[in-house]
Amino acid sequence: ARQFFVGGNFKMNGTIESIKDIVHKLNDAKVDPNTEVVISPPALYLLLTREHARKGIEVAAQNVFDKPNGAFTGEISVEQLKDSNITWTLLGHSERRVILQESDAFIANKTKTAIDGGIGVILCCGETLEQREANKTMDVVIAQLAAVSKQVQDWSKIVVAYEPVWAIGTGKVATTEQAQEVHKGIRAWMAKELGQQVADSTRIIYGGSVSEKNCRDLAKEADIDGFLVGGASLKPAFVDIINAKQ
Ligand code: 13P
Repeated sequence: ARQFFVGGNFKMNGTIESIKDIVHKLNDAKVDPNTEVVISPPALYLLLTREHARKGIEVAAQNVFDKPNGAFTGEISVEQLKDSNITWTLLGHSERRVILQESDAFIANKTKTAIDGGIGVILCCGETLEQREANKTMDVVIAQLAAVSKQVQDWSKIVVAYEPVWAIGTGKVATTEQAQEVHKGIRAWMAKELGQQVADSTRIIYGGSVSEKNCRDLAKEADIDGFLVGGASLKPAFVDIINAKQ
């Protein structure tokens, strides 16, 4: 069975005080020991978060660069994450694809660099509303994942996060059927392109307006192995989402 996985993406939110508060509350909360929990603060607060989070809670960067070191102003390397005990990174979040115009190929390069360096990757994919309405959802998602599969053979440290862009921060969650359909399609693509073992073992998590209200129904779907939570990860509701399988 795949271990349930819940990530908290703080995005560009928080202060030293508020992040310490969130982390301490999470440390003290009664969370399902069977859920893998990873929180992702802004880069400036990665060390602070690592310092305060209890053992068993992992910390993820929101991005990493695809070069080992050098003249790359504003970027952070995989080695620097490892040096700071940061064991995961998000990559390919739609806010970076859309607002920062990151390409599938660039995201694939960064995924390869992270995986080769031993950092886990929460690899985000998902379609815009326009693409969904044009019936291009699976084409878009598979193109995003196929760019990575061209470069990365070892998927054991990749968690795929399906995040439909129209559901992010909108309060408009995908229905359980809509999410399950895409997750199932991703797993079928994996079986075909990466092998049955990868398809069976890779966690595919859902993101987009996940809340304490909708998480339990989503978690019942066969191919939904957890969540990537934005807004609600800053609130007490995050604990309920971590415990969605209980
Ligand atoms: P919301 O949960 O705020 O919709 O954000 C989802 C997300 O983008 C997580 O990466």
